[in-house]
Amino acid sequence: MARPRKPAGPLLPPDLPPAPPPVGPEIVRTGAGASSGDSVLSPRPLGDEEEVLVPSLRPRRFPEFIGQRQIVEKLQVFIAAARQRGEPLDHTLLLGPPGLGKTTLANVIAAEMGVQIRITSGPVLTRAGDVAALLTGLQARDVLFIDEIHRLNKSVEEVLYPAMEDYHFDVLIGKGPTARSLRLKVQPFTLIGATTREGDVAAPLRSRFGVVSRIDYYTTDELIQLLHSVSRRLAFPLEEAAAGEIARRARGTPRVAIRLFKRMRDVAQVDGRPAITPATVERGMEMLKVDRLGLDYIDRRILEVLLRRFDGGPVSLDTLAVSVGEEPDTLYDVYESFLIQIGFLARTNRGRVATRLAWEYMGLKPPADRVIDDPQKRLFTDEG
Ligand code: ADP
Repeated sequence: MARPRKPAGPLLPPDLPPAPPPVGPEIVRTGAGASSGDSVLSPRPLGDEEEVLVPSLRPRRFPEFIGQRQIVEKLQVFIAAARQRGEPLDHTLLLGPPGLGKTTLANVIAAEMGVQIRITSGPVLTRAGDVAALLTGLQARDVLFIDEIHRLNKSVEEVLYPAMEDYHFDVLIGKGPTARSLRLKVQPFTLIGATTREGDVAAPLRSRFGVVSRIDYYTTDELIQLLHSVSRRLAFPLEEAAAGEIARRARGTPRVAIRLFKRMRDVAQVDGRPAITPATVERGMEMLKVDRLGLDYIDRRILEVLLRRFDGGPVSLDTLAVSVGEEPDTLYDVYESFLIQIGFLARTNRGRVATRLAWEYMGLKPPADRVIDDPQKRLFTDEG
């Protein structure tokens, strides 16, 4: 389900001013982050859309970074302390579902540290030499950001361990009995790892991170704030009531909120409206088949298959993925984690199980003999 990358430029519609040039740290991308999922709600990046089309949408510094107050306050202290000592920030692991701001936060950290950031991802670093080349190119206190760090292979991890701990690594030169080991030094640096799969990060790797932060889904109020900021930056007005409607359907995820804003802007523009209104949102969401909780056709298909075909489960992730025609990874990261968050689905050791809320929401009755696991009774509310 990989999407073709969008060609660069023409970048903005002619009626909008060009985006200001990005400020902040130099961003060096090494290889693309893997991207899949083609729903407008997919919190995965579709190529480098955000950065290439509207570079100004990504917050550059902490004051522009919305929400996640606890994480931000903690990082501000650690960054200030590291700067005072003239040291790099301790290695930092960012956990959480896609689209919640892990990459953005890594960029902000680098900008606040006043250093460069190099961005890569686990699946791109296939050989020890790949990471060795990156490490030797770092300057003192630079940030190396590895997205999907749970997908690093063993040989790459083994180069990283001594580099993270003692700022050196060993390379093997030659083969067989004449092979010898060469020790290379690395400048003191910060590794920022991001992952959607906390459980899949190798224990020795995880233990080398001094800071571990879990990024949570955003509240509706935070997403409203984000949408108003996007509206200002894209110079397209957004009515207050419309902001609330979009935020409530954005699955607690900034990337989804931004995408929905752009689609609603399309609808308003074509309808000849000067602003996004509640009527725009109603029409737009109907077109996108996004319901009042932010569920789209894939979520509903997952629930339907789980309820109708498997009587509410338990069913394994792989079986569910095959039944709805999605990759197990996408199902796990994107859809399932949100359905769990709103209390529609539970992960049990026997498999995925629908909760009472899911049966009610889909307007279906569970089989009479069924005892339903119902770990979460709370419906997704405004406080979300
Ligand atoms: P992740 O790396 O977790 O998948 P990103 O950092 O790529 O997520 O964030 C997705 C988009 O959402 C970014 O383009 C950014 O503009 C926006 N975004 C994410 N978090 C925030 C935030 N806290 N404040 C403002 N915008 C945000």
